[in-house]
Amino acid sequence: MKNWMLTLAALMASGSAMALTPWQKIEHPVAGAPQAVGSFANGCIIGAQPLPLNSTDYQVMRIDQRRYFGHPDLLAFIQRLSHKAHQKALGMVLIGDMAMPAGGRFNSGHTSHQSGLDVDIWLQLPPQRWSAQQLLQPQPLDLVSSNGKQVVAGQWQPQIGSLIKLAAQDATVTRIFVNPAIKQRLCLDAGADRNWLHKVRPWFGHRAHMHVRLRCPANSLECEDQDMPPPGDGCGSELASWFVPHQPSAKQGLPPPLPPSCQALLSNHFAAE
Ligand SMILES: [Zn+2]
Repeated sequence: MKNWMLTLAALMASGSAMALTPWQKIEHPVAGAPQAVGSFANGCIIGAQPLPLNSTDYQVMRIDQRRYFGHPDLLAFIQRLSHKAHQKALGMVLIGDMAMPAGGRFNSGHTSHQSGLDVDIWLQLPPQRWSAQQLLQPQPLDLVSSNGKQVVAGQWQPQIGSLIKLAAQDATVTRIFVNPAIKQRLCLDAGADRNWLHKVRPWFGHRAHMHVRLRCPANSLECEDQDMPPPGDGCGSELASWFVPHQPSAKQGLPPPLPPSCQALLSNHFAAE
């Protein structure tokens, strides 16, 4: 067994939140035509690009963590969405985690964000730009009441709903994860135009940010899409099921084996060191 495989196995077995995954040791994108490989929760990316850090339409948080890489489709989506938000004077769009330079698994926080097609966008739209210090230590705004049943009226702004709707209307977006209480608020406010709501999926957490996921890019032949969300706005019984207590989910076992192209990428990277 190669060294890196031993290291990988040891890291996975240790379960330590402090141990870095091999992906976190890769500092630069892997050269090549952009390819999202594998699935969102078990994949990597070749030819990732950094999101430009200077923009009049968005600001990037925690750049010290270097999680601002993605497929060019993801960069284009962020720029398109932020530009529309700017035109509508919604406020400054705050960009959180995207992917690491070669994608892959983080040691904490996420299991997805692995193939360069996911981005966390915060659900607050400050009217003014944040300082460099604020961006390095951003303060999340919890939009959900402590009992989880509704959004906090004083924190909710119509602009937040507009931002989520703009994102959902983008043709490259397949899913947006938000807290069930936030989805419920969107359902109440939507009015007659409800088609976009089916992409907005209730999920655990996500009280201060939305997680946006794009479809597989046309030329990423090893990229695995998810099934489309069920038809309908998802505002009925499915959403209601989130407001009855959930059984704690079973502890996950070891992650599945990597896609072969991602294994090869790691192997080449650490052989070259
Ligand atoms: Zn996320």
